[in-house]
Amino acid sequence: MIAVLKEGTTPQQRESLCEWFRNMGLEVNISEGKYHCIIGLIGNTSEIDVGLLESLSIIESVKRITEPFKKANRKFHAQDTVVDVCGKKIGGGNFQIIAGPCAVESKEQLTAVAKSVWKSGAGLLRGGAFKPRTSPYDFQGMHMQGIELLLEAKKLTGLPIVTEIMNFNDIELFEHVDVLQIGARNMQNFELLKEVGKTKKPILLKRGLANTLKELLMSAEYIMASGNENVILCERGIRTIETFTRNTLDLSAVPALHELSHLPVVVDPSHSTGISRLVEPMAAAAVAAGADGLIIEVHNDPQHALCDGAQSLTCEQFDAVARKVMKIREAISE
Ligand code: PEP
Ligand code: MN
Repeated sequence: MIAVLKEGTTPQQRESLCEWFRNMGLEVNISEGKYHCIIGLIGNTSEIDVGLLESLSIIESVKRITEPFKKANRKFHAQDTVVDVCGKKIGGGNFQIIAGPCAVESKEQLTAVAKSVWKSGAGLLRGGAFKPRTSPYDFQGMHMQGIELLLEAKKLTGLPIVTEIMNFNDIELFEHVDVLQIGARNMQNFELLKEVGKTKKPILLKRGLANTLKELLMSAEYIMASGNENVILCERGIRTIETFTRNTLDLSAVPALHELSHLPVVVDPSHSTGISRLVEPMAAAAVAAGADGLIIEVHNDPQHALCDGAQSLTCEQFDAVARKVMKIREAISE
């Protein structure tokens, strides 16, 4: 349920109303807008007499929220959430490109890619250290050594690092990681979501291969309900009847998620297409659709990549994509 307060409500009046709600055992979320303050209530609101609440002099309106996601809901929090990763802001008009290899493979590889994407204007560096592979015989990642290489690359470039966590028992290894990525395959690993929700680190939550937007938002809700509101949603393509592309990029997810939620939305044109030559047009389309960021796979030698070479851009190709994306950003912000 949300209660919108009238303009001019004093902090004391607001606090005594919130106290009344808390005494009813409800969790109170306050969202301060330009003109109005919205009080979001979580818990069993069935006891509340809506008519009585509406009759209070400080109440503008009262609405029951029917969606099961509350904290992630735009109705609870009208303003866009801005996630700040070491000063790099995502959301609310702030845009970032996250770029780097699918997997960290060696110091040479990561250093070359990190320096190059940084020069091209990427704001964050990605790289998998723990890789969720379909086959157990494929390269599984460099694990802690991979994280150490990411931290070295961060020292060199200043780029905050984004890497996937698959098992919460590994959390200590991620102490210095800036953004924890929850991969598509783990979008509904609810125990993992609850645990990353107990950290204060920004979470990049990827949409599952066969999950609806509402399910994605319920997964975000798990993280937020555990105390971490720094969630970035990621559309990375879904399974459809189409087999030409690796997945089908659901670009309507960008405006739809923006309508449903205040959380930032980034798009992954690499995993959604699986084909490097489709990355640039889909990155451009995602930006035009209002994405708050992109996550793009880049490799210094895609032909010999240990993971996802077919969708990886060369450093030169990434440079061209970054330039194009910036031009589109300028054009749409005019
Ligand atoms: C990745 O980003 O490296 C990855 C494995 O992506 P996804 O979980 O979207 O498949
Ligand atoms: Mn990959």
